[in-house]
Amino acid sequence: MHFDTKVVRAGISPDPTTGAIVPPLYQTATYVLEEVGKDKGFDYTRSSNPTRFTLEANLAAIEGAKHCATFASGMAAVDSAMKLFSQGDHVVSSDDVYGGVSRLFNQFLTRQGLSFTYVDTSFPERAEAAIQPNTKIIWIETPTNPLLKVSDIQALADIAHAHGVLLGVDSTFATPALLRPLEWGADIVMHSTTKYLSGHNQLIGGALLTNSDDLQARFRHFQKSIGAIPSPHDCWLTLLGVKTLSLRMARHSENAMAIATWLEQHPKVARVTYPGLESHPMHHVAKKQMSAFSGMISFELTGGIPAGKTLLNSVKLCALAESLGAVETMITHPATMTHVEVPREERLARGLNDGLCRLSVGIEHVGDIIDDLEQALDQVE
Ligand code: PLP
Repeated sequence: MHFDTKVVRAGISPDPTTGAIVPPLYQTATYVLEEVGKDKGFDYTRSSNPTRFTLEANLAAIEGAKHCATFASGMAAVDSAMKLFSQGDHVVSSDDVYGGVSRLFNQFLTRQGLSFTYVDTSFPERAEAAIQPNTKIIWIETPTNPLLKVSDIQALADIAHAHGVLLGVDSTFATPALLRPLEWGADIVMHSTTKYLSGHNQLIGGALLTNSDDLQARFRHFQKSIGAIPSPHDCWLTLLGVKTLSLRMARHSENAMAIATWLEQHPKVARVTYPGLESHPMHHVAKKQMSAFSGMISFELTGGIPAGKTLLNSVKLCALAESLGAVETMITHPATMTHVEVPREERLARGLNDGLCRLSVGIEHVGDIIDDLEQALDQVE
């Protein structure tokens, strides 16, 4: 089955009772047993729910994975991946992971005895050099949030496996429509389904995917024991969102390429980072492992913080919003929004310059997005 067919059909069959083409929403907490010790395969929604299982089957099929386990948020999915490890274990992580992920690592998991080394995993040799005898996983994002660094999954998988450690990939920015990390040797794929997979800014969710029976058994155990599971309704909404994933990712990618190219020649823009541009330092890696380059662009204004504030206060169509990966174009300015609490020196050291803006390009007409950015850039000194 082609990918475009899988997103619409995989794991989904007409409801045997009514023929309903859309899978029923089993909005229930529990299930009545036929007799003591005899159920119909479901006992309590924290451990099993038909709507959740349908979503997990669909996501596993499109990722090309044997298994999927879904969670209440992307963060709950990352936390569950880290629950594989114990006090004293070490993790090598991409240095530009989403801020919520580094907060989880630094403020919570270190207190539980895990340790983390952050490296720019665009350079696989740096990840290898950071491996210690107690390292259990290399955890990467590609492309990263917000600097859009791209890492070579195949090279990192080879390194991880040569050292007997796992490779986990947060593939939220790419989605299985553009990149399937398991095919390049990753052991675990993670998604914030909040973003492109559900696609319409309508819910919060997460997923872990793997080909390993052992890892899946542990993820199921975490779902049941901790309960950070998505509601049946959110699973049902995600299933509807996924149906248009192929169409949306093609449009997001096409729009983003046009906008990145346009921004690159704008005099008030110092630098544009988009994996699809030849100027991206890891464009060759992105081209090798991705079929298109998704909808995320970061760009730096020459005018620093004042320019960033003016731009964001002047946009009309682009929404001033901290999320990404939905049909609406959204824009953020890390220095005054997502990273406002990070001391300036630390922020600059991470490459988050004063004039940096992050654009999540939607599926509107590209001309309208460019017109909006143009009129807002005209306001910038
Ligand atoms: N991973 C990445 C790359 C993200 O961008 C985000 C959220 O922005 C997350 C994980 C966390 O996902 P959620 O907000 O669904 O918890």
